[in-house]
Amino acid sequence: MDIKQLDQEYIAKTYARNDIVIASGNGAILQDINGKEYIDFGSGIAVNCFGVADSKWIDAVTNQAMQLAHISNLYYTLPQVHLAKLLCEKSGMKRVFFGNSGAEANECAIKVARKYGKKRNVIVTLEGSFHGRTLATLAATGQEIFHQQYQPLPKGFKHVKPNNIEAIQNALDEGVCAVMLEMVQGEGGVNVLNEAYVKKVRSLCDEHNILLLVDEVQTGIGRTGQFFAYEHFGILPDVVTSAKGLGGGLPISACLLGEKVKNIFTVSDHGSTFGGNPICASGAISIVERMDNDLYQAVKAKSDFIFSALAGQKGVVDVTGLGLMIGIETQISAKEVLQRCIEKGLLVLTAKDKVRLLPPLNISMKELEKGMSILIDVLGGAK
Ligand SMILES: *Cc1c(COP(=O)(O)O)cnc(C)c1O
Repeated sequence: MDIKQLDQEYIAKTYARNDIVIASGNGAILQDINGKEYIDFGSGIAVNCFGVADSKWIDAVTNQAMQLAHISNLYYTLPQVHLAKLLCEKSGMKRVFFGNSGAEANECAIKVARKYGKKRNVIVTLEGSFHGRTLATLAATGQEIFHQQYQPLPKGFKHVKPNNIEAIQNALDEGVCAVMLEMVQGEGGVNVLNEAYVKKVRSLCDEHNILLLVDEVQTGIGRTGQFFAYEHFGILPDVVTSAKGLGGGLPISACLLGEKVKNIFTVSDHGSTFGGNPICASGAISIVERMDNDLYQAVKAKSDFIFSALAGQKGVVDVTGLGLMIGIETQISAKEVLQRCIEKGLLVLTAKDKVRLLPPLNISMKELEKGMSILIDVLGGAK
């Protein structure tokens, strides 16, 4: 039976799928079941940071699968502590709680803020933000359209306009225990926060003795040309959440606890059956180990190439982003751009009404150039 038909019959209808069946891939090249090739500018939404079928990741995951796939958090396991140490060394955070998804990492950050805040329990987030699909992370998400059908949502979230210092100052009343930010809003349209704003929010959090939680689920793990995007802004958060690229293709997330909250949890305060699973953690180690200055420089060079390739091109209204996380405001609708790119063998994403690019961090210049020339043709109106 036809795959598309089976999907429509048996899968919950939550996804507007593109009309192709991806079967395999290598690096930044994907192949559908008919053997047609595509250049990948989406990385499974910033997950496949070293592309598909990356050999170091395959070795790490398969070797671990042969030794121990799972044992639960009732026992110590080697990959989990090794990964936690690496993450702390690279981020300046002090301890790690492992989960399975970005939403779960953010749930953990919300719990940290609530426990830290005691009677203060409100978390301030930004309009246009995206923090996940669970009820609490939906409530944290500053986009009304996601809220409508799922009332009542958990209480204790307030949304303010991004890059507006006065708005956040006014929001920080007695009830607030934390502020949660994405340094670059991903789903919200690849909107980069101002450095001055981020620094001001950091100092406001210190003055009010509240926590700064930074959601690095999409921006983290080299995506913006630093290990975490907050490094571009010269701040250190109190809590950082990571997922997507962390596992290099397997589901793992981390809630990193800074100095102020490193001892916030005690036994049985929180937990997760699969959190820090040995296979996922081994895959993640093989990714995080390769995060270094050479990689960040390469990401920046590829980013510069994309920005200059798009500058002044026909059909391009505006380009935003940081590193290999790029949003393009286009004359033709983003949906149509995406569709025409598929026909020409290039996969891109959208975010709100923009075209969004999240290519693998190690995409070759040749593949990048080829993908950009397809995109530029399409943006200019080519059918
Ligand atoms: C994708 C995303 C999430 C949710 O991650 P899931 O793994 O889908 O739960 C949360 N925050 C940000 C910034 C994201 O981009």
